[in-house]
Amino acid sequence: MDFLASLLRRFPQGRVLVDTASKLAYECDGFPLHRRLPLAIVVPRSTEDVRDIVKLCNEHGVAFVARGAGTGLSGGATPGDRPTVVLALAGMRELVRFDPDDRVAVVQPGLVNLDLSVAIQDSGLCFAPDPSSQKACTLGGNVAENSGGPHCFKYGMTTDHVVGVTLVTADGTVRHLREGDGADLLGLVPGHEGTFGILTELELRLVPAPQKIRTWLAAYSDMSAACRAVSRIVGSGVVPAALEILDELTIRAVEASVYAAGYPQDAGAVLLIELDGSHLAVDTDTAVIESILAEEPPLTLEATEDAEQRTRLWKGRKGAFGAMGRLAPDLYVLDGVVPRSKLERVLQEICEIGRTHEVTLSNVFHAGDGNLHPNLSFDGRDPIQRARALEAGREILALCVREGGSISGEHGVGSEKLEHMEFMFASHDIEIFRAVKACFDPKGLCNPHKAIPTGASCKEGASAKAPGVLGAH
Ligand SMILES: Cc1cc2nc3c(=O)[nH]c(=O)nc-3n(C[C@H](O)[C@H](O)[C@H](O)COP(=O)(O)OP(=O)(O)OC[C@H]3O[C@@H](n4cnc5c(N)ncnc54)[C@H](O)[C@@H]3O)c2cc1C
Repeated sequence: MDFLASLLRRFPQGRVLVDTASKLAYECDGFPLHRRLPLAIVVPRSTEDVRDIVKLCNEHGVAFVARGAGTGLSGGATPGDRPTVVLALAGMRELVRFDPDDRVAVVQPGLVNLDLSVAIQDSGLCFAPDPSSQKACTLGGNVAENSGGPHCFKYGMTTDHVVGVTLVTADGTVRHLREGDGADLLGLVPGHEGTFGILTELELRLVPAPQKIRTWLAAYSDMSAACRAVSRIVGSGVVPAALEILDELTIRAVEASVYAAGYPQDAGAVLLIELDGSHLAVDTDTAVIESILAEEPPLTLEATEDAEQRTRLWKGRKGAFGAMGRLAPDLYVLDGVVPRSKLERVLQEICEIGRTHEVTLSNVFHAGDGNLHPNLSFDGRDPIQRARALEAGREILALCVREGGSISGEHGVGSEKLEHMEFMFASHDIEIFRAVKACFDPKGLCNPHKAIPTGASCKEGASAKAPGVLGAH
């Protein structure tokens, strides 16, 4: 029996999709420069369903890829260059167990990030990693990408919040990996970008929701002044929950959109600063932040401890990528990291690269982490604009690495940055990555040609940093 017939026999009608309209919905994620239609989409409901799909793929030598909400920004959930089955996991969205005493929640991977914190909010606990996509992205996607978010400056990336996982490895074996169980195999999973297998259950660490939150919006005449304020705050030893910057073009796009947050439109940059924690800690650190802001006073300064006002201030930041839709039909969100001390100068060079390639470039970024998101707005129907966006992106990521940073802070390598891996890794580094993947995926069927280059694209002479250099923390 052929592969599709076997799938259709195992799953009821409506859970195997092969029509073109459905396939079009799965042809790419949030990285619009790579697209490919899947062979089929299967909608599993349980670990057993996932295991059976993976086993069938193994029997027939068919490639497969996991997909959560498809908000990834590096092509991770996009079908690769061979016929690929998409496992659509967004339907597996149960909160399986909530244990407030142990401060853990066990969830299915398709549960949306924000829905977890909303479901447990009465307990005084929350899930700290908060990608700006948190209203849509799934926890499985967060773990697979080791996602960050505005509040990861203080709370750490997703990997710091994973206690255990159930992983169907690429040969169809169901494995339970948990913190403290011998060698740290669990540590390999966050950031695997769906290349080792399919996550079907996650045990996640929860943290107490803060007693008090204070947020400032400081508007500056230019980006340099905003960056100087960040350096001073970080240098003071205070650890804010978030330090986020939006540039002039982003402010204007946001204010013209449904995400308008009241950011001053004559500002060259706005800086969002947030403190959270106990009353005492927030009050003590507030005095430090306010004296730093007074050293080089912003054009305007707004401060609030009111939940509604805070939501408004964050609305512009969290909706910034969506607001970019006003600038052009397509958006390429880059994700480079640089040492914080170099933010100001690197941003100037990034803007110069944008001008050289005549692309519309805006910046919105996690300033505390040195994690930049230069955004290239373009019309993907025009091959010249596509080529310019790709080349500008390549030069910007090369610049980040030259300055001592990396090609990804939180969005992963996916298909987008495969050819940029050589900026950071030598062939022997890549060989190690391949060997680790082969332990989980000996036949190379699980999300092939993602995250790890498969060709001879990595030069012997490339700088050989340790693998752990990927990531802002
Ligand atoms: C507007 C916007 C804002 C964003 N802001 C942030 C941000 O602040 N910080 C940040 O880090 N990212 C951000 N992102 C990127 C994206 O939201 C994250 O990478 C997110 O974790 C992806 O989740 P997803 O459910 O959409 O995963 P998908 O895009 O569906 O998949 C992402 C990767 O994970 C794999 N995967 C998904 N589910 C599983 C599973 N169950 N098992 C194994 N592998 C799996 C896929 O194969 C793919 O490689 C943003 C994206 C957008 C569109």
